[in-house]
Amino acid sequence: MKDAGQKSSHPGELGAPKRLNRSTVSALDEILGTQLPVLDDGFVRVIDYMGDDSSIVQAAKVSHGAGSKKPGEDRAVIRNLMRHLHTTPFEMCEIKLHVRTPMDVWRQWIRHRTANVNEYSTGDSIANSAQTTVASQWRVQASKQGAGAFLPLEEGQLLSARESQFQKTSRDVYAQRIAAGVVKEQARKDLPLSTYTEAYWKIDLHNLLHFLHVRMNDHAQDEIRSYAKLIGQEIVAKWVPLAWEAFLDYGRDALVLSATEARILSALIANSPEGAKTIAESAGLLAFDKSGKATRNFEREEFESKLRFLGVTPSWM
Ligand SMILES: Cc1cc2nc3c(=O)[nH]c(=O)nc-3n(C[C@H](O)[C@H](O)[C@H](O)COP(=O)(O)OP(=O)(O)OC[C@H]3O[C@@H](n4cnc5c(N)ncnc54)[C@H](O)[C@@H]3O)c2cc1C
Repeated sequence: MKDAGQKSSHPGELGAPKRLNRSTVSALDEILGTQLPVLDDGFVRVIDYMGDDSSIVQAAKVSHGAGSKKPGEDRAVIRNLMRHLHTTPFEMCEIKLHVRTPMDVWRQWIRHRTANVNEYSTGDSIANSAQTTVASQWRVQASKQGAGAFLPLEEGQLLSARESQFQKTSRDVYAQRIAAGVVKEQARKDLPLSTYTEAYWKIDLHNLLHFLHVRMNDHAQDEIRSYAKLIGQEIVAKWVPLAWEAFLDYGRDALVLSATEARILSALIANSPEGAKTIAESAGLLAFDKSGKATRNFEREEFESKLRFLGVTPSWM
């Protein structure tokens, strides 16, 4: 909210309440209602929003009292709030999105319980199209959860052709039921998870950033990651640039060390490779097989990649 009058409207201050103007963000207004494409037939579009970076600062000042406005102050306040997990001021901003996602993506999306949702009903309306996978995009199972490389193109072409056949069959079965007068809620039951659904999704900024933190992560499924990246980079970055910058710095791109990891790193920096190894072993991160090779440990491997980022070589390697 931007102040329009002369007198303050801060709680507890005397004087007639002054008029307030709604906050608007021109960069976001420019894309309001525009479908931003994701996957082959999905999209995200902003329907409405409330608040901006200054609303976060204004809410924080209710708890601390109004201060003088200095250049760069908003940025410092927002960074301070983010750093110390003073999260409620971020809840003062809200956004309403219209999203179109395949049902398997939506199944993951809807697990985030802190949003208000209204989904398109295939019980009342005809089901949407289905997402298709191009031949070069079939991912190989790399670990229990997550994916890495792609299948060879010839194999992918075979799978894409089978996908197309299967989707056509399921569509035909659906259309036949509809044509026979079957109720839509029953006709839809054999539609695949690739079928697109649509929803209005309204959420406050604090919970949206949590969603983005979880779903922009490399461990999240590639498809939902595409949506999360688009929402973050094309929408949130324009809407609340200072909060977005702080989120990237302290959340998304931050390097987090557990207490054990910090102790090992500290020993490595102090030039105590044996000390580092002992800590790693006693914490269960490091064990060796009969040939003297370190056995696989996912937690240690993740820590090793943090060490590589810092330019540190662990003593056991
Ligand atoms: C890589 C990955 C793999 C996953 N694998 C699986 C899986 O195999 N099976 C599966 O079922 N799920 C799986 N999930 C879903 C995951 O467990 C969470 O349910 C989902 O990410 C929503 O997270 P959340 O609860 O933090 O989010 P939100 O529902 O958005 O909640 C945000 C925060 O609000 C608080 N909160 C909200 N509701 C409550 C509540 N009722 N009680 C207490 N606190 C609450 C919590 O602090 C929570 O972190 C996976 C998620 C990811 C990212």
